[in-house]
Amino acid sequence: MGDPACWLDQLCPACAAMLEASEAGALSVICWRCGATIHLGDQGPVVTRRQD
Ligand SMILES: [Zn+2]
Repeated sequence: MGDPACWLDQLCPACAAMLEASEAGALSVICWRCGATIHLGDQGPVVTRRQD
């Protein structure tokens, strides 16, 4: 607690949906809302493929 930025790492960059917790060690997740593929990098989540 006390770090308001930490949960931002769990928001989809494309649609701001809260991402589901990924499997431990997973490097990417697919957004349940917009279908974007999101890479979980050291800089935070990055959309690598956006679904139209
Ligand atoms: Zn999304």
